[in-house]
Amino acid sequence: MTATHTAYIGLGSNLEDPVQQLKTALQELDQLPETSLTQASSLYSSKPVGPQDQPDFVNAVAKLETSLEPLALLDQLQALEQTHRRVRERHWGPRTLDLDLLLFDDQIISHPRLIVPHAHMHERGFVLLPLAEISPNLSLPGKGSITDILSNIATDDLQILTKSE
Ligand code: ADP
Ligand code: MG
Repeated sequence: MTATHTAYIGLGSNLEDPVQQLKTALQELDQLPETSLTQASSLYSSKPVGPQDQPDFVNAVAKLETSLEPLALLDQLQALEQTHRRVRERHWGPRTLDLDLLLFDDQIISHPRLIVPHAHMHERGFVLLPLAEISPNLSLPGKGSITDILSNIATDDLQILTKSE
C-alpha cells in the first residue's frame, strides 16, 4: 500500500453495546482497502447532543493512513455504518454507529456529500478531546490549533471509559 493521506475519523454509538460497537469499528477501519489504523484514542462517554431521552454516547477518534481519496473513504465509512445496522430514525437521535470524516490531510472540502473539516467538530468536546489525546499539536484548517479551540469548549460531561492501548 502506498499511504499518501492522513485522515481522522470520529466514531460514536449509543445503542447495542456501544463500547463493543466502537472496538469492532476500530478493527474494521484498519481492514478497509488501502487503509491502516495508525492511532486510536481512548473511549469516552458523553451526554447526547439534542434529545436527552436517549442513552449516553461512547465516542472515540481514529487516525488512518490511506491512499483512498476522500469520497471513496466516505463510501467505505457509510458501508461500515450499514453493516452495524444503523437505524436513522431522527436527526441527532440514537444510533448504533456514526462515522464522521473529521479531517483529510489539511484539505478543505465542500461537496454535496462531504464537508471537511466536519462542520461541527470545532464545537464538540466529544470530538476535540479524543482528537487532542492522539494529536495534541494538530491545527484545524481555517480554525487554528486544537488546544486553543478546546480551551473554549465545555468538556465536563466527558469521561474516559477505556484507555487506548
Ligand atoms: P451527523 O453525523 O452530523 O449526526 P449523519 O451521520 O446522519 O449526521 O449525516 C450523514 C450525512 O452527512 C451523509 O449524507 C454525508 O454525506 C454527510 N456528510 C457531510 N460531511 C460529512 C463528513 N465530514 N463526514 C461524514 N458525513 C458527512
Ligand atoms: Mg455522521
